[in-house]
Amino acid sequence: MASPALLMRVVASAYTVAEKAATIVRNVMAAGDLGIVDKTGDNDLQTKADRLVQMSICASLAQKFPKVTIIGEEELSTDEVTEELIEDGQCEEILKKTCPAQYAGIKEEELVIWVDPLDGTKEYTEGLLDHVTVLIGIAYEGKAIAGVINQPYYNYEAGADAVLGRTIWGVLGIGAFGFQLTEAPAGKHIVVTTRSHSSTLVNDCISALNPDSVIRVGGAGNKIIQLIEGKASAYVFASPGCKKWDTCAPEAILHAVGGKITDIHGNSFQYNKEVKHMNSAGVLATLRNYDYYASRIPNTVKQSLVP
Ligand code: AMP
Ligand code: MG
Ligand code: MG
Repeated sequence: MASPALLMRVVASAYTVAEKAATIVRNVMAAGDLGIVDKTGDNDLQTKADRLVQMSICASLAQKFPKVTIIGEEELSTDEVTEELIEDGQCEEILKKTCPAQYAGIKEEELVIWVDPLDGTKEYTEGLLDHVTVLIGIAYEGKAIAGVINQPYYNYEAGADAVLGRTIWGVLGIGAFGFQLTEAPAGKHIVVTTRSHSSTLVNDCISALNPDSVIRVGGAGNKIIQLIEGKASAYVFASPGCKKWDTCAPEAILHAVGGKITDIHGNSFQYNKEVKHMNSAGVLATLRNYDYYASRIPNTVKQSLVP
C-alpha cells in the first residue's frame, strides 16, 4: 500500500502530539507551580503549561515536518526544548483513513499549522479545568482544513472511574471524530460566549439576539465543543481578542460536520502565514441556523468591529 498522504500524516502526528500536550497540562497543574505571567495586562495570561506545551508541540511537529510553517501563540525560543518534550508517535486510526482527493497532493511548504498550546488559560488558573483545550489547526490555501482539539480534563468531575481527557479531530471531506455530534434543542436559542473577556459590546450584541439562555465559559475550543455537542446553538463574541490559533482547529472541526464560523460581519477567516493574527471583528459560529443569528447582529455592533 502507498504511504499515507502528507495531510493524514500531519493530522495523525498532531493527534498524538496533542495527547502528550494534555499530559503536560495535567502534570503542571498537579505539581502546583503554574508560573503565571500576564502578557498584556488584559487578563491575557501565560503559565508554565502554555510555555512547555508550545515548545513540545512546535518542536515535535517541526522535527517531523521541517518545511511546514508552524505559528504558535507563545513567543518562545525553541532552543530550550529538551528531549522529553518531543513526541514522535502518530495515531494509526487516522493513518488508515483515505485523504480527500483535493488534499492528496499537498506538500509540506503549502501547510500552515496554528497552535494554541493551552486555550482557556484564565480558566485553567481558576480551576475551571474542563474549559481548557489544546488546539492544533492545519490550513491550506488560507483555509482551515483539519484540526485537533484535546480536552485534557474532559470528565474530571465524573468520578474516579471515568476516563480523563479526550481528543477530537477532523478533516474537511472526512468528518470529525472523538465526540458524539448532537444538535442543540430545536426552537431554543442558547448563546455561548466569553466569561473572562466581556465588554459592553459583547453583552449588547447578545442582548440584541434575545436568547433563551446564555452560557459563559472560557476558551474558543471549548465553545466550539458546546456547539457540536448540542449544549449551545451559537457562539457569539462581538470583540477583538480571539486569534487565528484560537479559531483554526475549531473551524476545521465545525466545518467538517457542516457548521459555520465567521467574524461578526460574516467574513470567513483566513489562515495563510502572512495573515494578521487577531480576529479583530469577533466570532460568530453555529452548527445549524447560522443565518438566524447572522441576520440579527445589530449594525451598531458591526460598525464597532473593523475586520
Ligand atoms: P474567551 O472566550 O474569553 O475564553 O476567549 C477565547 C480566546 O480568545 C482565548 O484564547 C482568549 O485568551 C482570547 N481572547 C479573547 N479576548 C481576549 C482579550 N481581550 N485579550 C486577550 N485574549 C483574548
Ligand atoms: Mg486561546
Ligand atoms: Mg492559549
